[in-house]
Amino acid sequence: MSTAFNSRRPRAVKPISQEEAAILIRKMRDERAGLDDYRERSLKLHGWICAKCGREFDQSNLHLLTVHHKDGNHKNNPRDGSNWENLCNYCHDDEHSREILGDYLSNKR
Ligand SMILES: [Zn+2]
Ligand SMILES: [Zn+2]
Repeated sequence: MSTAFNSRRPRAVKPISQEEAAILIRKMRDERAGLDDYRERSLKLHGWICAKCGREFDQSNLHLLTVHHKDGNHKNNPRDGSNWENLCNYCHDDEHSREILGDYLSNKR
């Protein structure tokens, strides 16, 4: 299981090389280009609140509120928001580690 620590980790604070930075920036930009569209809509639909822990957000910390895809498919973005859940970064991380664990347990055993 090498997928447990992939893309959705909090950003590292240690210094990184220019090359790494360039890759990161490109990745963030790509992600953002795809993300913002549904993120905006999900925030509008579900409000600035974490669906799990109930934490509320405002302009100053809204970037910590992320959109989770319930079925895990980032390309499944129905307009009614039925596949989206607004989760704070902590709950989002938690949600994904559970999924991975769940997959692991159901597939491997
Ligand atoms: Zn939360
Ligand atoms: Zn998610």
